[in-house]
Amino acid sequence: MPGEPSILIVGAGPVGLTAALELARRGYRPRIIDRGSGPTPEHESRALGIHGRTLDLLQTSGVTQALIAAGNRVDRIEIRRRGRAVAQVELAMPGIGHSCILVLPQGTTERILEQALLAFEIAVERQTECTGLDLNGPDAAASVTHNGVTETMHCDYVLGADGAHSTVREAAGIAFAGEETEPQTFGLVDAVLAEPVDPARFVMNLLPDGALVRIPINDRLVRYISNRPDVGTVIPDSEPVGEVVWSSSFRIAYRHVETFQSGPVFLMGDAAHVHSPAGGRGMNLGMEDAAWFAWALEENRLDSYSADRLPYAVRTLKFSRAGTGQITGATRFRNSVAALLAPWLLRIPLVRRLAVRNILALDTPLPPWIGRPEIEA
Ligand SMILES: Cc1cc2nc3c(=O)[nH]c(=O)nc-3n(C[C@H](O)[C@H](O)[C@H](O)COP(=O)(O)OP(=O)(O)OC[C@H]3O[C@@H](n4cnc5c(N)ncnc54)[C@H](O)[C@@H]3O)c2cc1C
Repeated sequence: MPGEPSILIVGAGPVGLTAALELARRGYRPRIIDRGSGPTPEHESRALGIHGRTLDLLQTSGVTQALIAAGNRVDRIEIRRRGRAVAQVELAMPGIGHSCILVLPQGTTERILEQALLAFEIAVERQTECTGLDLNGPDAAASVTHNGVTETMHCDYVLGADGAHSTVREAAGIAFAGEETEPQTFGLVDAVLAEPVDPARFVMNLLPDGALVRIPINDRLVRYISNRPDVGTVIPDSEPVGEVVWSSSFRIAYRHVETFQSGPVFLMGDAAHVHSPAGGRGMNLGMEDAAWFAWALEENRLDSYSADRLPYAVRTLKFSRAGTGQITGATRFRNSVAALLAPWLLRIPLVRRLAVRNILALDTPLPPWIGRPEIEA
């Protein structure tokens, strides 16, 4: 049984909740606060895709089974040009556990994690904000404000899981380098369709100036996401939209910290890295950071946490930048070449395996504490 270090987790998004849960199942009693009043509203969820590696990570806590029960399993990606399928990638691959992408709104994922945390009698303290951090003493002194009253919590560890504009990162003086922002504004539309679609299939429509991706939340509710802000205008006529549930536009920046740790402060998730949603990696990578921290604490190897995580943040940024570049750099000519070559290339077993590995984010290391994942969910 571990000792009783005092741990404050700032932020109860998917990453902070994963950290709390992974610590709790190892016998730690972290305190977790969030300045918001509740989990992300389900109809305003940014992340939808949960990768196989994340399902592997959450298997021990029993959360994987709950996520699979609630989510929609996608096991193929279809590439279309001018309404016609030109290539298909089957994600099912022998020897890979959870060989699929699970589609589940981020709000539901957060609720499932929070429920699992409650089983350890740890509740998220809502409308409770970290308003300052003093790192000049023997420990970290966090100012925690609730209902206008501020208390000081002395912590052995402060986990910054407080998103891209992290207060913890700033208080620790950790730079968030990399200004680069895609010039385009991207758009998304979550809509209920008039006709059902195949819920097991992602569809990527190649456009003359980019792409329109359709992600099925179920057979009627889908997300359209594009490098064009006017997403609604490029939805195919063959997919009549009934009700629009949510629409939003966003810009993309690529930034990451150079160190995930400064003294007793440890960063994870969007507080440590932000990038394009291409590939659906941000939340997954952050949840992996969180699980990695819990393992490193138990194994008494926190000194290597930053060095362990940084390469994967750098690699993920590179991957998502390349994926975004493929979309924003599209031209009619490039689309013709892609439509011609993709079906042939994907018939080569090695190419297909590499594509599936990248799509499922299996290019991150197998966490040492879970061993070989079981084959198939
Ligand atoms: C359009 C879009 C689609 C995406 N799709 C995917 C996808 O399919 N798959 C994927 O993996 N990723 C996806 N992402 C990225 C994903 O949404 C983020 O990576 C993820 O939300 C990061 O989680 P987090 O817990 O680190 O931060 P957040 O979700 O931002 O949570 C941070 C929490 O900290 C709280 N907080 C902030 N400051 C304080 C403070 N001072 N005190 C107390 N609480 C505080 C906030 O209230 C918030 O609840 C997508 C992003 C976008 C924009």
